[in-house]
Amino acid sequence: MSRFITEWKKSHGAGELRIEDAGQTAVLMGWVDAVRNHGGTIFIDLRDRFGVAQVVFDGASLGEADMEVAKGLRQEYVVAVRGTIQKRAGKPNPKLATGEVEVVSTDLELFNRSLPMPFQVADEVDAKEETRLKYRFLDLRRPPLRKAMILRSEAARLAREYFASQGFVEFDTPILTKSTPEGARDYLVPSRVNQGTFFALPQSPQLFKQLLQVSGYERYYQICRCFRDEDLRADRQPEFTQIDLEMSFVDPDDVMTTADGMIASMFAGLKNVEVPLPIPRITYEQAMTRFGVDNPDVRFGMELIDLTDLAKTSGFQVFKSVAGEGGLVTGMVASGGAAFSRKEVDALTEFVKTYGAGGLAWTKRADGKFTGPLAKFVDEALEKALLHDAGMKDGDLALFVADRDASVARTAAGRLRGHLGNKLSLVNPDEFGFIWVTDFPMFERDEETGKLVAMHHPFTSPNSEDLDLLSTDPLKVKTRAYDIVINGQEVGGGSIRIHDRKVQSQVFEALGIGEEEAGRKFGFLLEALSYGAPPHGGLAFGFDRLVAILVGADSIRDVIAFPKTTRAACLMTEAPSQVDTEQLTELGIGLIEK
Ligand code: ASP
Repeated sequence: MSRFITEWKKSHGAGELRIEDAGQTAVLMGWVDAVRNHGGTIFIDLRDRFGVAQVVFDGASLGEADMEVAKGLRQEYVVAVRGTIQKRAGKPNPKLATGEVEVVSTDLELFNRSLPMPFQVADEVDAKEETRLKYRFLDLRRPPLRKAMILRSEAARLAREYFASQGFVEFDTPILTKSTPEGARDYLVPSRVNQGTFFALPQSPQLFKQLLQVSGYERYYQICRCFRDEDLRADRQPEFTQIDLEMSFVDPDDVMTTADGMIASMFAGLKNVEVPLPIPRITYEQAMTRFGVDNPDVRFGMELIDLTDLAKTSGFQVFKSVAGEGGLVTGMVASGGAAFSRKEVDALTEFVKTYGAGGLAWTKRADGKFTGPLAKFVDEALEKALLHDAGMKDGDLALFVADRDASVARTAAGRLRGHLGNKLSLVNPDEFGFIWVTDFPMFERDEETGKLVAMHHPFTSPNSEDLDLLSTDPLKVKTRAYDIVINGQEVGGGSIRIHDRKVQSQVFEALGIGEEEAGRKFGFLLEALSYGAPPHGGLAFGFDRLVAILVGADSIRDVIAFPKTTRAACLMTEAPSQVDTEQLTELGIGLIEK
């Protein structure tokens, strides 16, 4: 029996060995990252979660039996070695943190073998994502994922420390609960005890955190799992993690300031980046006018310029008629864009068409002159707007979208701005752009049903001066809601809530939720609002997205240990899966063919 584990405990992380440690005895345990057999001497890179170290096995230091074991080592075998840390006999490896040292082994134990790997434990692998997800436990050995997981854990720790320092109380709210409306479909769990009834998994702890304010806790937070059964667009997961908080006796400024502190602490602790506080704030309306979207990437300028007024007297008929009919003419000056070929400009036209715009009007600036299709319509006023107001210079390209539906023009221009930001490499990938967007509209119209739906959620407080509009012109109602946007991605959102039962009923009414339905779905909340509910508000951060930004990962799948596919399935466990008929019978459930 070897003395590893019982007596010889792991002494160092493999990646932690340094030249200053030379002369010490080390006990390392981990995986064989690579094997090199140089005649009688065998070298391995031993890897654990701290990194890799070179270990040397030779007949002079290692006994015969252990030497035989060393000869049989293969990639991903699990081993323990004991030996002396020394300055490398061979050339140092400047690419490795441990590159100046090696461990000359006196004892070796093989804990376990491994089948050949479906892919290498390397920074980059060309395995299909399906293979990586099926063998996620192996994928998680790869350094980029390992770094992401450890950074994620650190981010959670910093959040906890921050909220504790600010007097927040951590809670766990139920997972088996009732529907919480965040605009998605619920995941349902059948009740065996109360047949024919179902729990819903929480889309967020929204109602519970509000109830905890009624209970008097004043400052609540939780790092919690949320579940939303959505058709997974781009980068979503059916279950994801939020940093959720709620506070009593606060206004939007208090909540945003608190959130600023958490963001600053994470970026300082994990990225060594000092976030200038307060994070700037703009209203939804300003965001839409200046950037065309409510999640602007503020790492570059190229703000939209509104030409609607100028267009009214333009010789360019399309502009003139759109402006005359209450539409919007908006655009931007892309610095350096004059270098685009005709084909590239055509591709930009196709791009805006995917957002419903009819096309693009454009003019380039070269040798102090305008060129391109719009050039002959550049009158004095437009020239001033472009050269003077927007700072257009030789080598730049001005692009415009006009549409009778202002929101179509705005969205198309906003998306085009984002697209050009990438195409022209206006974004420094090492920089972070933070902004709050505030004063969101309360409602928007659901395109399919034509009904009003809450833009944030129905518990968001309207601005007090807009209360009268709830019954007369609900689409004009603005709210005390705020989103935090980093690098053009919404990473959090929240609001001051309604604490007045009457106002809550008015909002339900505007949403077409009658008294009976409101009582059935949210009776407990309405009741709580009648027992001394304090003014309160809060916010939730999308933790996965925040970590993805901190890590520089393209997808939140890269920062979630066991993510699901875009088909909402886990390829490793093969969930969701069929269940036994007995299990269904016990629940009183029969399957129907679809
Ligand atoms: N419950 C909200 C959400 O999940 C966040 C909040 O309003 O605090 O988006």
